[in-house]
Amino acid sequence: MSNCAIVGVNWGDEGKGRMVDLLTEDYDIVVRFQGGGNAGHTVINQYGKMALHLLPSGIFRLDVINILGNGVALDPENLWTEMQDVMDKKVKITPENLKISDRASILLPWHRDLDELEEKRLADKKYGSTKQGIAPFYSDKYQKKTVLAGELFYPDELKTHLLEIMEWKNMMLTGVYGAEPYTEEILDKWFHDYCEKIKPFICDTGLFLKNAQESGEKILFEAQLGSLRDLDYGIYPYTTSSNTTAAYAPIGSGLPSAKIDDIIGVVKAYSTCVGEGPFVCEMFGEEAEKLRKAGAEYGAKTGRPRRVGPIDIVATRYGAEVQDATEIALTKLDVLSYMDEIPVCTDYVVDGEKIQRFPFPTALSKAKPVIKYMKGWKQDISKVRCWEDLPAEAQNYVEYIEKSIGCPITYISVGPERDSIIIRKKGK
Ligand code: GDP
Repeated sequence: MSNCAIVGVNWGDEGKGRMVDLLTEDYDIVVRFQGGGNAGHTVINQYGKMALHLLPSGIFRLDVINILGNGVALDPENLWTEMQDVMDKKVKITPENLKISDRASILLPWHRDLDELEEKRLADKKYGSTKQGIAPFYSDKYQKKTVLAGELFYPDELKTHLLEIMEWKNMMLTGVYGAEPYTEEILDKWFHDYCEKIKPFICDTGLFLKNAQESGEKILFEAQLGSLRDLDYGIYPYTTSSNTTAAYAPIGSGLPSAKIDDIIGVVKAYSTCVGEGPFVCEMFGEEAEKLRKAGAEYGAKTGRPRRVGPIDIVATRYGAEVQDATEIALTKLDVLSYMDEIPVCTDYVVDGEKIQRFPFPTALSKAKPVIKYMKGWKQDISKVRCWEDLPAEAQNYVEYIEKSIGCPITYISVGPERDSIIIRKKGK
């Protein structure tokens, strides 16, 4: 089998973690290539239920090597806390099965402060940030105002570099926001408490991946969030601050020459969206509450109720296109089993005109959804394991989505557990 990327096609929370957890069986290496601890991948397996934020979802497979690539927002504080939580569940994490890129930039403590201070300043115009410091971190990375993980191996140079950045950062913290400045002592303690703990895991992951590729090992690239949150292709400015699309995987992983043969786009059988921004297909009231409850749609990181709606064909078709998805995993089909009729957002209307193409972000606020209803199946499908056993109405729903977005649906997930899956591939 060849290299593969598992990416989100919608607004995130599609169930990528459960797909990575399932498919890592066939891979040697799992790499996270972008994003940080601002999202959650929920995985349920023999160790129990766990929400991963920064650790790759291959961490539960003993023989899989997990990599945090140079494209991630390396938050040592969150990562170390998460590693301890996972190790508490008797999962082994060592420098052999977790490797952190020496070229990953470090999310520093003031990034989280600045995120919070800026959201507070924006008040009702806020972006709905998870306040994990991701946007200030990526701005600083591109301004070259943070430090690389590998600098931990050069303590003298690191100290000088950090103090220079701190001086600049304090001007912003105190001058713009009236906040407390950082001191060398605070930074020293933070580095001691968190960075020193993750230091044994830091190495030249680019070289590791190059060697692995040359010896024919199979690599799985794991994305965070989804197409519509991609900095360049999403609903800007309500995007995340990194590229969530598969095309970024080679750059953000440390293997710029990587060829990704298989791109599995994960699509949820209905829509959810966390935070602010346009969400054309949004449902409200009792209908929304029922779907939210049925799908347990509350943020893995923040516990915030997610906004919900029917599957949005316009957004999903676009999302699959920007991912260049070669196949689709449709998740949470079981959640729709309670519905008599299943709503589907087929088109948008903008200024009286029906459109099928996902519009420019500014036009989204004017877009209205066109909804059609399909017959529901009204029976428990969570134990179904093969396509033929799915009720005809469920098959129709899946086939309708497949045809509308123009990409084969090869996996259908009917429950959160590892084996609650229908595989529609020849030979499987
Ligand atoms: P991710 O960030 O894309 O990995 O998605 P999340 O972890 O935020 O959200 C997916 C949630 O749905 C998790 O709680 C999963 O355990 C759960 N889940 C995944 N697939 C299914 C499914 O097919 N059916 C049901 N009922 N739950 C699922």
